[in-house]
Parts: sequence; structure tokens; C-alpha cells
Amino acid sequence: MPDPSLIARNLETIRAHIAQAARAAGRDPSEIVLIGVSKTHPKAAVLEAMAAGLFIFGENRVQEAAEKFPIAGARLHIIGGLQTNKAAQAVRLADSIDSLDRPRLADAIARAADEKGRLPELLVQVNIGDEPQKSGVPADEADAFIRAMRARFGDALKGLMCIPPEAEDPAPYFRRLATMADIHGLAVRSMGMSSDYAAAIAEGATHIRIGSALFGHRSARA
Ligand SMILES: *Cc1c(COP(=O)(O)O)cnc(C)c1O
Repeated sequence: MPDPSLIARNLETIRAHIAQAARAAGRDPSEIVLIGVSKTHPKAAVLEAMAAGLFIFGENRVQEAAEKFPIAGARLHIIGGLQTNKAAQAVRLADSIDSLDRPRLADAIARAADEKGRLPELLVQVNIGDEPQKSGVPADEADAFIRAMRARFGDALKGLMCIPPEAEDPAPYFRRLATMADIHGLAVRSMGMSSDYAAAIAEGATHIRIGSALFGHRSARA
């Protein structure tokens, strides 16, 4: 037997940390969905993760995602800021678009869904720290936008996603997103990455998005 691959070992470590964080928060570890963020990593890395038992992946660029996916048996989330002109490709490829953040993108997604007869699940991305460089609907516009997206997409709108400001305690931002999801009766809270997923789980994350802790470090661009 060869040694389990680095990805398989990382996955085991992450699963153990998820279980620990969930138990510490009085939650059932099976409530927490791990999304393996495979951006910048080759399709072979995705296949390796699948061999180790992970079947849900996230990519932040549609073009790059299209070079690796679809893969039979794998679910794909588009997790990065999505250009309107990439919406049709995202609708074709993704099981979930986690970065819905403006009316024109909603228009493009709706149009593509009509044409293709396929609507992925959707998350509204909230710019929870109101950072100018980040995508996401501004926090103080989020309630109105979420209501509009609910009216437009119905049950396809599953929940909310955020990336808190770097170098700050993320907990208050996670809490704020969870509260918004509660208010709107949305089940999914996608929050938490390699550096902060334990805190996110403590604040009610249902989905965490793990890149570097699973696949290793990325080259500079991501
Ligand atoms: C890259 C990325 C992640 C994963 O980041 P890591 O710190 O490598 O775990 C999660 N979410 C989004 C939106 C990303 O772009």
C-alpha cells in the first residue's frame, strides 16, 4: 500500500478539525459541508480528492472551472465574483453559483437558465465588511437584494456567502451573516476558509470553503 496522498491526509486532518469545532459548538459534524477549493490546482488534484472521498468543489473562475469540470460524481460551486458575460457558462457548468451579488448578474443568470432549462442553486454573496475591493452586495443593501432574489428565483435561492475582512476577528462578521440568513429563513451559510473555519463553524456555518489547507499553497495569482 502506498502512503495516502498528501491531499488524502489533509482531508483527514480537516475532517477531524471540523468534527472538533462542531462538537465544541454543540453541533453535529455531519451538518457541515466541506467544499474543496481547487482553483489553480489541476484536475488530477480534484480526482485525488475524490478518491479520498470528497465530492464537492469550488472554483472562482469560470474559464478555469470549465477546463476541469464537469466531472461525473462531482458537484461544482462557482465561488468567485462572477462577470455578467460569464453567467451563461456558469449556469451550464455549476451546481451552485455562490456569488450572486447584483441585479444585472441575476438578469444574466435568469436568461441563461431559461435558455438552457437549468437553474443552479444560488447563494447571495454579501460584502459583509463593506470592503471596496471585494465583490458581494453591500451589507446595508443585502436585505432588499435577498428579498428580490427570493421573489425572482424562489427555492433555488438557498442561502448566503461571505468572506470577512482579513486580519480582523472574523467572528462578528460570521455572526452577522448568520443573523441575516436567519431573518430571511435561508438554510445555507457559506463562511469559513482555511484560516478561520473553526470560528465559522462556531457561528453557524453550514458550508466551509477550504483551498490551501487541502490542496496546498497556490501560486501568487489567487
Ligand atoms: C480561494 C477561496 C477560498 C479558499 O481559500 P483558502 O484560504 O485557500 O482556504 C474560499 N473562498 C473563496 C471565495 C475563495 O476565492
